[in-house]
Order: sequence, then structure tokens, then C-alpha cells
Amino acid sequence: MSGLRISAAHSVEGAAKEDVEKLSKYIFQRNDCSEKKCTSENQGTFAGFMTLCGGDAPTDEHRVSVDDSECSICLSTYDDGDELRELPCGHLFHCPCIDKWLYMSATCPLCKRNIFGASSCCGGV
Ligand SMILES: [Zn+2]
Ligand SMILES: [Zn+2]
Repeated sequence: MSGLRISAAHSVEGAAKEDVEKLSKYIFQRNDCSEKKCTSENQGTFAGFMTLCGGDAPTDEHRVSVDDSECSICLSTYDDGDELRELPCGHLFHCPCIDKWLYMSATCPLCKRNIFGASSCCGGV
């Protein structure tokens, strides 16, 4: 009756909560060199650390470079204690930001890679 037709062209499926929660989660900590202590020589290379969250893995720290220290969804920089999510493609976002995104579309907002890997078109099984 109505002329409105929902196009199936963009039917990218969102991820389920349990799928999102399988992705690695980290806690971000700022590089605690204060402005006074460290010269830009020491400090310039990375913005902080992120520590793998949950599980019984030993503390696993990764440096976060200045370039990667901003969430591309809300465009703010990570702060002490922020929860970050790493996608299989290696991109980082705030947990709450990317979770919301993934429920709508299970792809990385930056590189458009599907979080389930290559085979996603036919779903199945
Ligand atoms: Zn964010
Ligand atoms: Zn990506």
C-alpha cells in the first residue's frame, strides 16, 4: 500500500551482546609522566598503556601511541581507567562507544572489516 520500501541493500547485521563481549577489553592508563617531570622527548611517543581486562592472564600491558589514543567514535582521548575494546582488525575504541556501534553493525567504523572475520555474507549455521 504505502510507497515506502525498506531496502535490503544495507542489511549489515549487528553483533549480539555475547559476540561483542568476546572481543578483547582493556583498561587504559595514561602515561603518568607529568608535564613537569618529562620532557617531550621522553613523552612524545606514547600516550599511555592499556592492560588486558578479565581472565587470569598475567598483566599484559600494551603501549598506546598518541595516534591511537583517541576514540574515533566520540572523538575524545582516552582517560585513566577508560575501558577500551580492541577489534580483530586492531582498531581501538571506547567500550561503550564501540559496543553501541557493533549492536547496529558488526563492522569496524574505521576500516569496515567485519568483526567475525571474512566470511560474513551468508550467515548460516
Ligand atoms: Zn568514545
Ligand atoms: Zn578496523
